[in-house]
Amino acid sequence: MSGLQQVKCDTVILGGGVAALWTANVLKAAGQSVVVLTNAPLGSGQTLAAQGVIHGGVKYAVAGKLTDSSEALAAMPGRWLAAMRGEGPVDLRGADLLSDHQILWSLPNVVSQIVGFFGSKALRGRSAAISRGDYPVVFDTPAYKGRLFRIDEPVVDPVSVVRELARGVADETHLVEWGTNAELLVENGEVTAIDLTLTNGQKFLLRARDFVFAAGAGNGHLLSRVGIAEPRQQLRPLHQLVIRKRDLPPFYSVCVGNGPKPPVVVTTHLDSGGRTVWYLGGDLAEQAGVDRDETAQIEAGRAFFAKWLPWIDLAGAEWFTCRIDRAEPLTGTGDRPPGAYCQRRGNVLVTWPTKLALAPALAEEVLRETPGTLTDAQRFSLDLPRPGLGKAPWDLP
Ligand SMILES: Cc1cc2nc3c(=O)[nH]c(=O)nc-3n(C[C@H](O)[C@H](O)[C@H](O)COP(=O)(O)OP(=O)(O)OC[C@H]3O[C@@H](n4cnc5c(N)ncnc54)[C@H](O)[C@@H]3O)c2cc1C
Repeated sequence: MSGLQQVKCDTVILGGGVAALWTANVLKAAGQSVVVLTNAPLGSGQTLAAQGVIHGGVKYAVAGKLTDSSEALAAMPGRWLAAMRGEGPVDLRGADLLSDHQILWSLPNVVSQIVGFFGSKALRGRSAAISRGDYPVVFDTPAYKGRLFRIDEPVVDPVSVVRELARGVADETHLVEWGTNAELLVENGEVTAIDLTLTNGQKFLLRARDFVFAAGAGNGHLLSRVGIAEPRQQLRPLHQLVIRKRDLPPFYSVCVGNGPKPPVVVTTHLDSGGRTVWYLGGDLAEQAGVDRDETAQIEAGRAFFAKWLPWIDLAGAEWFTCRIDRAEPLTGTGDRPPGAYCQRRGNVLVTWPTKLALAPALAEEVLRETPGTLTDAQRFSLDLPRPGLGKAPWDLP
């Protein structure tokens, strides 16, 4: 094939969300030549649909004990805040910290358990009771009979996070359309190369030592394309609620009820028109919520506020919902695996962060799996389209 150019880099990453972009920044900072190929605007999929909570594990610990999940997450708030100060391999100084903490509030019937739990040794230093004089606006009413705790788990703005991560690897990141200008070449359960057609029509073979699958729900298709039988992917659906009204007060909170999962988790965002958005996840958005249609889900949300937070004025608010799947390795139990997932299959690393918060942990595992750089790795620029930045759910048409 005359005129067929070939290049070789250390690592090709397939994906365009927090997993791909955080990992690409870390590998680049370690001196690797990296190429990121994505198939949609950056952050499309789970990352821009995330609530932006950088869990430190308290939410999982509330279930009764400090679980594997809470251990894996404990270091993450510190890691993100360091990146937001510009310390370490990932520079998130330009990203927006929406809140440096969340409020943990209890339904009236669980006050005694929650007080006991937050007084316990396990959580000392990770939370503190809030005295009534310091209650945030949402709870500043005698009508609220529960207790409030502060948990030091920050909330970030996912759109600004993706924008800043993308900035760090702008020259390395490209948009491809599989089957049109890109083809995965596969042999014996490994990726041998990616066959690219550049914007000028030239054919190009992209080789690499390792190929990282960090494509979220797209990993399922990539795995079957390469013929990797294990791991398998699980998709766990959510049906999130959005309440939009100008000038809603800040509300970053985890509600504690009787069950193992918080009934509602609320974060606050601004849409592109400057209107405030309360974004609702938690148990409300899990299976029972998934089984409801949009009208019934909105009714469930309204009923929750009418019952537990009736003093909040939501007159004139716009309510809508969005559905999105969480993509993870199959656990067999239907639950989320405890930490970030990274497994090698030949020259493929199969990854799912399983949480936005765990992206730094995932990137570290990928770096451990891809030590050093190839002596024949090249630096080059590819004449391919650049992906734009995706949109948050409330800004989608
Ligand atoms: C509603 C919701 C709320 C959440 N809230 C939180 C939270 O508050 N805190 C938290 O820690 N976690 C949260 N999560 C989990 C978190 O969002 C995800 O774990 C994380 O964003 C996954 O990132 P990712 O990069 O693996 O996947 P994604 O963000 O889904 O990105 C995958 C990307 O790969 C691209 N892609 C797909 N197929 C291909 C292909 N064949 N080739 C190239 N590119 C491809 C897609 O276009 C997409 O942009 C939430 C998840 C959901 C669904």
